[in-house]
Amino acid sequence: MRFVKEHIEKLTAYQPGLQPREGERVIKLNTNENPYPPSPWVLESIRDEASEALRYYSDPQTRRLRETAADLYGFSPEQILCGNGSDEILGILLRTFTTRGDSIGYYVPSYSYYATLGTIHALHLHPTPVSDRQEQPPLPHNPNLALFFLTNPNSPLGFSFRPHTVMKLAEHMNGILVVDEAYADFARWNCLSLIREVPNVVITRTLSKSYSLAGLRVGLALAREEMIRQMDKVRDHYNMNRIAQKAASVALRDQKFFEENRKRVLRTRDRLFEGLRELRLDPLPSEANFIFVRFPSSQAAATVYAGLLQQGILVRYFDQQGLDNGLRISIGTNRETERFLAALQALL
Ligand SMILES: *Cc1c(COP(=O)(O)O)cnc(C)c1O
Repeated sequence: MRFVKEHIEKLTAYQPGLQPREGERVIKLNTNENPYPPSPWVLESIRDEASEALRYYSDPQTRRLRETAADLYGFSPEQILCGNGSDEILGILLRTFTTRGDSIGYYVPSYSYYATLGTIHALHLHPTPVSDRQEQPPLPHNPNLALFFLTNPNSPLGFSFRPHTVMKLAEHMNGILVVDEAYADFARWNCLSLIREVPNVVITRTLSKSYSLAGLRVGLALAREEMIRQMDKVRDHYNMNRIAQKAASVALRDQKFFEENRKRVLRTRDRLFEGLRELRLDPLPSEANFIFVRFPSSQAAATVYAGLLQQGILVRYFDQQGLDNGLRISIGTNRETERFLAALQALL
């Protein structure tokens, strides 16, 4: 097309997991949403906010939410930036800290959206291989990258590097280390403390998974004040709508609900792991709200994926080297997990 830039014409868009249409009855274990509804207090706050007040713009500074998040995580509001999902935060990071022709890096496998974003911004991409058998993050050959993305816990494999090993990675890099902690609420540790220990770390969080709010679109960045200040100049001034600002700060304040929800997910994760072992499969230990399970062959994994799909059970299959012999299963309710295991057993 004659109007489009070459790097966009060549771009393959990010492929989100299948989203069923409204009313379709499926067991949805493919995009790591929370199987439980958000806190009733959150739903009430959304009903309250859906009022005449919507004719006014939202708070351009998202003050309330930033203050709530600051209290919760032990930082100041100036160290927090909110986004329309953590995906938007990732975009803001690229717009703030890179220009065309710069280089960025990330691990493979991990979240494939980093590469898509890098291509959109006409950057050079430097993938570094990583595996679940490593104790610490492998150091990229080239430390001169504007940004390096670490998904921790890893998706789709579920392992998580300990903070002191991530610190070595941060010290190795000459640019910014982004630790994408989309799944950190399900893990035994996180890297928030690194913000105080090293100058070049940005942490991203999302309310999509552990707070059951994927449809609301709320993400956070935490970093030193001087970094947040630069990112803040780049975002759209009304990037957080009124409803998301209100509901997200209520969600973060309902820690009792959050904690119960989290514990239920972790118990079901144990059950799913055992169930997969009983079927003589090879599930990887997980620090997230999903389990990656390997099959004897890629043929077997693809066949099981198709068989489950036919029964309305959605899981994630990655048609790429190193992942194509496995499936990523989100943690559902106990009932969904039992139904999944029964269907899997029948297929095997
Ligand atoms: C889900 C996910 C995101 C996106 O989160 P949103 O807040 O829903 O945009 C980012 N990174 C990773 C690793 C994820 O799994």
